[in-house]
Amino acid sequence: MGRLCLERRLFLWRSPVLSAEVTTELARGKPLWKMPEGQRAIGRGRLPQRGQSAKYPGSLPMKGTPQMPIKNRFAEMQPEIAAWRQDFHAHPELMFDVHRTAGIVAEKLRAFGCDEVVEGIGRTGVVGVIRGKSDSAGRVVGLRADMDALPIEEQTGVPYASTVPGKMHACGHDGHTAMLLGAAKYLAETRNFDGSVVVIFQPAEEGGGGGKVMVDDGMLDRWNIQEVYGMHNWPDMPAGSFAIRPGAFFAAADQFEIEIVGKGTHAAFPQSGIDTTLAASHVVVALQSVVSRNVAPLEAVVVSVTSFETATKAHNVIPATVRLRGTVRTLDEGMRDLAEARVCAVVRATAEAYGAEARIDYQRGYPITANHEAQTEFARAAARAVSGACAEAAPQMGGEDFSYMLLERPGAYIQMGIGPAAWLHHPEYNFNDEVIPQGCSWFAEIVEQRMPAA
Ligand SMILES: [Zn+2]
Ligand SMILES: [Zn+2]
Repeated sequence: MGRLCLERRLFLWRSPVLSAEVTTELARGKPLWKMPEGQRAIGRGRLPQRGQSAKYPGSLPMKGTPQMPIKNRFAEMQPEIAAWRQDFHAHPELMFDVHRTAGIVAEKLRAFGCDEVVEGIGRTGVVGVIRGKSDSAGRVVGLRADMDALPIEEQTGVPYASTVPGKMHACGHDGHTAMLLGAAKYLAETRNFDGSVVVIFQPAEEGGGGGKVMVDDGMLDRWNIQEVYGMHNWPDMPAGSFAIRPGAFFAAADQFEIEIVGKGTHAAFPQSGIDTTLAASHVVVALQSVVSRNVAPLEAVVVSVTSFETATKAHNVIPATVRLRGTVRTLDEGMRDLAEARVCAVVRATAEAYGAEARIDYQRGYPITANHEAQTEFARAAARAVSGACAEAAPQMGGEDFSYMLLERPGAYIQMGIGPAAWLHHPEYNFNDEVIPQGCSWFAEIVEQRMPAA
């Protein structure tokens, strides 16, 4: 990301590209959108002043809604959507047990007037269908948000902090869910598109593969979803800014569990046993050679050992077994195969060198999240329409189960900045409600650009 702040970039971008239509409207002195309370219009263009809040940076009218930029509607809706978000935040739920959240989502979708609302897709997922004002070609776009929280004790101190001990929304899925609900409300109100939108609210992104379970439940075929789009909020990216890349974006997330089996004995008589603590320690060190010696230096691979558990905690016992756990992240299928083969070979041979045996359970997890080229450009165009720019994103070694939807349908995943914040999965992380209008607008813009009303 460049160092230029969002407001500055918006300012630079907006001036030269005011459309003839907008300029005419401005020349007539007709406001295209109402300046939010407390902000001062700058000249006729009503640009937010540099250094002001990025809350309502303004927007050009979007395609298909020339009279009223959608940002304006979402700026009006922001307090309402923020209240939904904060309610989700106060009541975090894990994995597939998102019953309260899913119930509220379904209830709101019905209240918005969605044409169809179906619960229980992928166990606790919710799907809503909104038909446009016309449907000349049977086009269907899917928009996805995740609903689950994390097993973390919250330390934000916000008034709407988690009411559930040991659980919190530390990845901003409360924000994703609220923004997609906001977009659904707007789309159901305006229906200014030619085709149908399917809003997808999935459970269990954080390790349960809820996206895969929804796909396996036949969701994509049942509603004839042709393209899918999703978004993740991103701390330390300018608030309301966007970044995307074609191809591999998020890593494949594989994991291993290794049991080193030796022979337990009295710690004062090591010669009569096989020391699994020593063997496992060498395994941990040797595993670091996979990335440094087997993977080409310009490739991206992570091998992390995250747990080392001896069968006994006594001072005077050499444990019979040690259990290791860890994760392997790759951005390329060839690297994925290489890493698996080398991890297994290194673990087995190292254990053997110490007379121990290694039992390896290597599990392939979320696939590489690979954006499709054309849909990446559509997503980028929507982001530009919302915030004036869209940066080229760097690949990320985190995993994301939207990947399962991208394996089945063309689509794209985008990052949206939330400004300075504690990192994702940190106990002090909190979603930034000020970016709600931009997030909602991006979802809505995708729909109106991909299926323009006749
Ligand atoms: Zn997460
Ligand atoms: Zn997340």
